[in-house]
Amino acid sequence: MGVSGQISKTGEWEKLTLFGDINEDADVYFPTLLAALGKNVIVNFREVSSINSCGVRAWITFLREFEVSRSIVFEECTPDIISQINMIPNFRGKSTMNSVYASYTCQNCGHAQNHLFTKGQNMPASVGEGAGEVPCKKCGKPSEMDELEEEFFAWL
Ligand SMILES: [Zn+2]
Repeated sequence: MGVSGQISKTGEWEKLTLFGDINEDADVYFPTLLAALGKNVIVNFREVSSINSCGVRAWITFLREFEVSRSIVFEECTPDIISQINMIPNFRGKSTMNSVYASYTCQNCGHAQNHLFTKGQNMPASVGEGAGEVPCKKCGKPSEMDELEEEFFAWL
């Protein structure tokens, strides 16, 4: 399944929620968004299940044109999306990062969970600040980020 999207409106902002796999088919879908969306766009990545190198290329080509005279906010970026942003800064362009998911595993009970960091709430302001303690949702013991915090937050 290729990528698809859903557009909803909240005040001055339109929210684009992306679904599915961002792959070679994205070359066809992304350009349709240029006409479909206005000046202020929130892109939500929570339902993106995978992204491959063709998809990354399609997104970067699209974003370069899409971000001209638009405000773009990235929301609920998955760990996959964050690793793309850390490898390829053009993946983000000039977009504001509003919230990101990091994956955590509990060292005590093995429970895996995604933890959401939101700008202005619990997101660190810089790499050096650190993520703070994230308790396991199952046993309450401190959970550990699967990646090194300084690598995960390298885009900050
Ligand atoms: Zn636990």
